[in-house]
Amino acid sequence: MLIWDRGVDRILFVVVHIMTEAFLKDKFNRSIRDLRISVTDRCNFRCFYCIPDEDIVWKRKQELLTYEEIILIAEVAVSLGVEKLRLTGGEPLIRRDIEFLVEQLARIPGVRDLAMTTNADGLKNRAAPLKAAGLNRLTISCDSLKPETFKQITRRDGLRSVLDGIEAALAAGFPPPKINCVVIRGMNDTEVADFADFARSTGVSMRFIEYMPLDNGHMWDRSLLVSGREVLERIRERHELTPIERDAPSETALRYVFADGSPGEIGIIAPVTMAFCGACSRLRLTADGNLRTCLFSMIDHNIRDRMRRGDTREEIARFMIDTVLKKEEGHRINEPGFVQPPRTMSFIGG
Ligand code: SAM
Repeated sequence: MLIWDRGVDRILFVVVHIMTEAFLKDKFNRSIRDLRISVTDRCNFRCFYCIPDEDIVWKRKQELLTYEEIILIAEVAVSLGVEKLRLTGGEPLIRRDIEFLVEQLARIPGVRDLAMTTNADGLKNRAAPLKAAGLNRLTISCDSLKPETFKQITRRDGLRSVLDGIEAALAAGFPPPKINCVVIRGMNDTEVADFADFARSTGVSMRFIEYMPLDNGHMWDRSLLVSGREVLERIRERHELTPIERDAPSETALRYVFADGSPGEIGIIAPVTMAFCGACSRLRLTADGNLRTCLFSMIDHNIRDRMRRGDTREEIARFMIDTVLKKEEGHRINEPGFVQPPRTMSFIGG
């Protein structure tokens, strides 16, 4: 049970923070502006690079943060300078009444951007309510445009539903969604130029992501990785691309538009071969209430139990500030002795 009075306590808290200028900054002088909130560890897909197919031990309901707890953490983070919130998982659409959470988060003064990363399965009937609730943007994962390959990667027969979801997002008036595609050699790497055509015909922004060593089966192998550079070369065999500026230095993607003026965009996210840790502005909150300072961090910082034992907002803020000071300079994927974190992407929150 939360014991805060969300009126007076909240106002006092904001005043103290403005006066003390307490913001989230790490010891490498990076400001934290982006909080990724995993709302569930569950997912209805079983992407082989992300989540096991069986023997999964899900978190129990009482282990997960309640919406009230998530809202409180978001409010504290925003009071400390966070401007962007992204809901993720697991699969955020399968958490009950996610529209309610969206509505509450959208109301927090200071939130400039509220986004969701989803597999879009079932989005067809949810896009309009999510838009009405105040969601600003959608990122949708889709690794293949071929039903069989899609099924091979996700272990689910879901391509039609995902494509319907993308269409619904566009129809609901969202800005053209970003489409995340993890490129894996021997599986979908021959499709990158087809995805570029998909961007041209629908106006979406493709985001080709390098496969990272975060998979459950520890099957990651450099030979399966298709570098961002190679993805670009393959697209350029079909279409001329023009680089464009990043919106912000912390943006993860190198961005390109089509030189012939066609709609759509191409983004390359290359965390392995072109790491962007130096400009990282992200902090993650797991569904079971742990702050994580890096995807590849070996440490969880439990904020849930502090709230449940009755810490004040001030104490929660102090904990967040101290946690951010422990943020790693960067991941060490390319260094000898790199150790893969025990939690996979689906449990951390992508
Ligand atoms: N269920 C939602 C979805 O499918 O978008 C949100 C969670 S998912 C973990 C978020 C993103 O992480 C997806 O785009 C997924 O492709 C990406 N991802 C998961 N494991 C990855 C890995 N090992 N390497 C690169 N990207 C990964």
